Amino acid sequence: MSIGIARPVIGEREKQAVMAVLESGQLVQGAEVAAFERAFADYHGARHGIAMNNGTTALMASMMAHGFGPGDEVIIPSFSFFATASAVLSVQATPVFADIDPATYCLSPAAAEAAITPRTVAIMPVHLYGHPADMTRFEAIARQHGLVLLEDAAQAHGAAIAGRRVGTWGTASFSFYPSKNMTTGEGGMVLTDDDEIARKLRMIRNQGMDQQYRHEVVGYNFRMTNIAAAIGRVQLESLPAWTEQRIANAAYFNARLTGVRTPVTAPGCTHVFHQYTIRTPEGKERDAVEKRLNERSIGARVYYPRPIHLQPVFTTMPGYAAPSLPETEKAAREVLSLPVHPMLTEEEKALIVQEVNALC
Ligand SMILES: *Cc1c(COP(=O)(O)O)cnc(C)c1O
Repeated sequence: MSIGIARPVIGEREKQAVMAVLESGQLVQGAEVAAFERAFADYHGARHGIAMNNGTTALMASMMAHGFGPGDEVIIPSFSFFATASAVLSVQATPVFADIDPATYCLSPAAAEAAITPRTVAIMPVHLYGHPADMTRFEAIARQHGLVLLEDAAQAHGAAIAGRRVGTWGTASFSFYPSKNMTTGEGGMVLTDDDEIARKLRMIRNQGMDQQYRHEVVGYNFRMTNIAAAIGRVQLESLPAWTEQRIANAAYFNARLTGVRTPVTAPGCTHVFHQYTIRTPEGKERDAVEKRLNERSIGARVYYPRPIHLQPVFTTMPGYAAPSLPETEKAAREVLSLPVHPMLTEEEKALIVQEVNALC
């Protein structure tokens, strides 16, 4: 038995939906994509959903739609997946890294505000591990300084603050990679309430065209297929139950793990537990704990062992001075994610508790 960190579910209904698309002959972006966009936007309470071929292109298209470019600074956390930063670099803008809140692992509003310069154009918090960033404060900061607010919601389908779902504060990018809370194989989506940004995103994903062979802006092929969207529509129906199960699994671990720091959910927040991330105690070798759990068939993983601001891409850039981000660097040394996916059995959950408690 091996307990993977993720276990994507493809059931009979997904297979039937894919077969129906294959039989229709309408393989590329069409009615299935439009229906998936509407359903995903409605679920989050956003006005527009614009499907993309993955979460990385969703982020890139968002940067382009806002017109960011050389000389513009976008404030992001360094404690994230690399695509958060490469999206900023893709338009030749400058990622400015700010530190995290050590409790939630999300971008710290105070640190982000302190990083604002005259060149700052936007802030993009990440809802890391499925915990919503403090969007109420980010919205106030963005308004006060006249900045664009974006969200990297790749890990946070359905996460909410006081019942308001992520994807409704700023231009928000989601991913449907198989390890995420729902999947389309590869896939992504941008949510926005802004009609003009939505119009631009639709052009950017489709060669910059507003109508056939009239190219209004520079665009690319970031289109989702009807095949992927058909899977997504079925998966979205299961998402609420899967999210409930993730939250229940997290509560089970919280009540039973004794020697480690268990994840915190900020008041009023709905944490959707893309990852269940513990901190190993001071003096414990995190990497050794990970290795021992892996040897005992538990797929514990570190997200992310090296913060983005210390990646070779940046440290080898001429003139780059790495900022000091102590909470980010500490988290990168201590965090360890345990399987929390909704397909865990009672035996698997009990084994995870037993093994972690034996090691920490
Ligand atoms: C997965 C992920 C992405 C990228 O999504 P893909 O669909 O894999 O391209 C971006 N940001 C974060 C935080 C992610 O977890």
